[in-house]
Amino acid sequence: MVENNQLRRLLSPRSVAVIGASTRPDSVGRAVFANILLGDYRGVVYPVNPKARSILGVRAYPSVLEVPDEVDLAVVIVPAPAVPQVLEECAQKGIPGAVVLSAGFKEVGGRGVELEERLKAIAREHGIALVGPNCLGIINTDPEVRLNATFARSMPPRGNIAFISQSGAVGVAALEYCEAEHIGISQFISIGNKAVLNENHLLAALRDDPRTDVILLYVENLEDPKGFLELAREITGELPQKKPILAIKSGRTREGARAAASHTGALAGSDEVYDALFHQCGVLRVETIEELFEYAQALAQQPAPRGDRVAIVTNAGGPGIMATDACVRHGLKLARFSEETTRKLREGLPPTASVQNPVDLIGDAQEDRYAHALRLVLGDEAVDSAIVICTPQMMADLTAIARTIADAAREHKKPVLACLMALEAIDEALRVLEEARVPHYRFPEDAARALAEMARYTSWVHRPRTPVRTFDDVDREAARAILTKARAEGRTFLPEPEAHAVLRAYGFPVLRGELAATEDEAVRRAQEIGYPVALKIVSPQIVHKFDVGGVRLKLEDEGAVREAYRAILDGVRRRKPEAEIWGVFVQEFVAAPGGVETILGLKRDPHFGPLLMFGLGGVYVEVLRDVTFRIAPIRELGAYRMIEGIRAHKLLEGFRGQPPRDVDAIAECLLRLSQLAVELEEIEELDINPLIVFEREKGARVVDARILLGGSGEGEGTGESL
Ligand code: ADP
Ligand code: MG
Repeated sequence: MVENNQLRRLLSPRSVAVIGASTRPDSVGRAVFANILLGDYRGVVYPVNPKARSILGVRAYPSVLEVPDEVDLAVVIVPAPAVPQVLEECAQKGIPGAVVLSAGFKEVGGRGVELEERLKAIAREHGIALVGPNCLGIINTDPEVRLNATFARSMPPRGNIAFISQSGAVGVAALEYCEAEHIGISQFISIGNKAVLNENHLLAALRDDPRTDVILLYVENLEDPKGFLELAREITGELPQKKPILAIKSGRTREGARAAASHTGALAGSDEVYDALFHQCGVLRVETIEELFEYAQALAQQPAPRGDRVAIVTNAGGPGIMATDACVRHGLKLARFSEETTRKLREGLPPTASVQNPVDLIGDAQEDRYAHALRLVLGDEAVDSAIVICTPQMMADLTAIARTIADAAREHKKPVLACLMALEAIDEALRVLEEARVPHYRFPEDAARALAEMARYTSWVHRPRTPVRTFDDVDREAARAILTKARAEGRTFLPEPEAHAVLRAYGFPVLRGELAATEDEAVRRAQEIGYPVALKIVSPQIVHKFDVGGVRLKLEDEGAVREAYRAILDGVRRRKPEAEIWGVFVQEFVAAPGGVETILGLKRDPHFGPLLMFGLGGVYVEVLRDVTFRIAPIRELGAYRMIEGIRAHKLLEGFRGQPPRDVDAIAECLLRLSQLAVELEEIEELDINPLIVFEREKGARVVDARILLGGSGEGEGTGESL
C-alpha cells in the first residue's frame, strides 16, 4: 500500500540519491545528475557510483548505504539486472520512494518481464513507492523543491499544469514544447512501465497538490479503469477544488473486436470503451500534444466560462468570420448583445464598424477602440467569453493593444482569449499577454477550439446530477432461475423464449410470444395472441434465426401459420440438420412503419466491467458502427447521453416529417439493462436486437433478444457466435 505521505516525499523530496550518477559524457546518469544539480534543487543530492570519487565535483558514494543522511528519494539509473540489488539497498536504507529510469524490463519481454516482477516483489515487500521502470523521471517546479530528475534537455517554466506521461518520448517532446511556448508546469511525472505506481496513484497525489490546477495525461492503457473512473469523477466535478483533466489515450485500435461473439462484443473495441470511460468521468479527451497544451493553457489561466455564448472582437472581417464559423462548428454560440451594448458600441466606433457580433473595429483600429468594445461586450450579461483578434495593420500598436486586452481580461471574470495573427515584432505583445495570463493563439480556429473545450468542461461541472436508478418492480429470482436452468442443462446460450423471459422479469416491454412445439400448438398460440403473428425457429444451436430461414413475418391467418411452420422446420432441418429444435416462437407482429429499430447491448469486459451499448439497428450498426458505450451502472443523464451520442440521433428526434420517437422508453430500457448488468453477473453478453421504438409516449418493444452466459469460452454454447 502506498501512503499519501510517501508519495509526497517522493514528489517533493528533501534529499535525493542518484544511483548510477556518472561522469561519462552523454550518459543518462550524467544528464540526470546534472539536471538536478544545475536545476537549483533546494534539497541535498547525493551521487552514488562505486567507480567514481566525485560527479561534477560533488563527492560520490560507493553505495546508497553509505550516504550519511536520510534519503527521501532514490533516482535509479543503473543497468536493469543491477536494479533489484539497488532496490534492496534502498529498502535497507529506509528510503520510501524510488524513480527507476533504467530500461530493459517488461518492455523488452523475456528476462525483462521476470526482472520487473522481482522489482515489484521487492517494492511490495519493503513498501517502496516506485515510479517506472523505463521512464524519463520526474520534475517538480515548486520553488521550495525545484527538482528536475529527468534526462530531458529542457526545463519548463513554473506553472499550474501537471503532466503524467506513460511515454518518456512524448514527455520529452512535451517538455520541449512547454519550454518553447512558455507553458508553466507544476509537476511532470513519467510513469513508464507502471510496475508499482500507476496513473491513479499519481492522479490522487495531484488532486491534493495545491499548486496544480489542471492535470494532463498521456496514457496507452489504464491500469485500473474502475478506480480511474471514480477518482477522475471526483477530481473533475465533485471536489471544492475541481481540476479539469485532459487526456490523450493513444492506440486507437480495435483490439477488442477480436472474434467477439455479439454485435455488442464486436463493436466494443477498446477505443470506444475509453471514450465511454472518459465521458463518464468528465475527462476531456484530445488527440494531439498541441491540443493538450492549448486547452490546458486556457483552462489553467482563465476563469471558466459560465456558458457557451462568445463575443468576437476583431479588426478585420475575414478572421472574424472564420472565428464565428469555428465557434459554431465546435458547439459554441455567438452572443446576442443587448440593445444598450449595441447602442454604446455604435457611439464609440466609426460608422463603418460593425457593432453586431462579431464586432469589427475596422483596419485602422487602435487600442482605444479595443478598450471601448471589450469593456462593453464583456460587461454584457449575454456574453460568457470573448475572443479578441488582431491582425497586423500599419496603424496598430500591437503591444498597446495587448495591454488593453490584458486589462480587460483582468477586470472581468470572463475568459478572454487573444489571437494575434502576426509573426513579426510581436514578442513584446506576447510577453504582455503572457504576464497577464491571457492565452494567445495564432489563428482564430485555435482560440475557438480552446474556448469550446472550456465550455465543455463547464457543462460537465454544472451537469444535473442524476441518481443511478434501481427499479423495484424487478423479479431477480425469476431471472436467476432461468439462468440456473440453462446452466444445469449445460447450455451457455439462451434462445429467444428464455432471453425474453429474463428481460420480462427485469420489467422490459417485451413483445408477447409463446413457444410452440407442434404445428397445432402454433396455431393455438397464434389465435391466443391475435393475428398477424411472426414465427421464428427456437434452437439452442441457432443464433441467427433469419440467416437460416428461421423467421417468417406478418402471418395473417391459420393457413399462413401452418405453411410457415412447415417451411421453417423443413428449411432449418435441411440447413442445420444437427440442430436440436425446441419448436417455434409465435410472436405478436408489430408493423414496422410505426417504429424505428434500435439495438441495446451488454458485454462484460474483464478489465472495465459491464459495457452497455446503444445504436440504431441495421446498417447504422453494421456499416456505420454508429453506437455509443457506457460502463454500467449508468445514471439517468448517462442514458440520455448515450442516445444523443450516436451520429444518427436526429432520426429519433423527428426528421423530415417523421415523428419524434419515444426516447424516454429507450432511456428506461438502458437503465434497466444497467441494473441487470450489475445484478446478473453470470450474463456475459446480451443483445436486444431490435428494440422497436414507437412515437413519443407510445413506448418501445423488445422484438428479439439473446443471452450468452459466461464461464465457458466464447459462443461455446452453440458452436456459433452470437
Ligand atoms: P434474428 O436476429 O435471429 O435473425 P429476429 O427475431 O431479430 O431474428 O428477426 C429478424 C428481423 O425480423 C428483425 O430484425 C425484425 O426486423 C423482424 N422481426 C422479427 N420479429 C418481428 C416481430 N414480431 N414483429 C415485427 N418484426 C419482426
Ligand atoms: Mg435479431
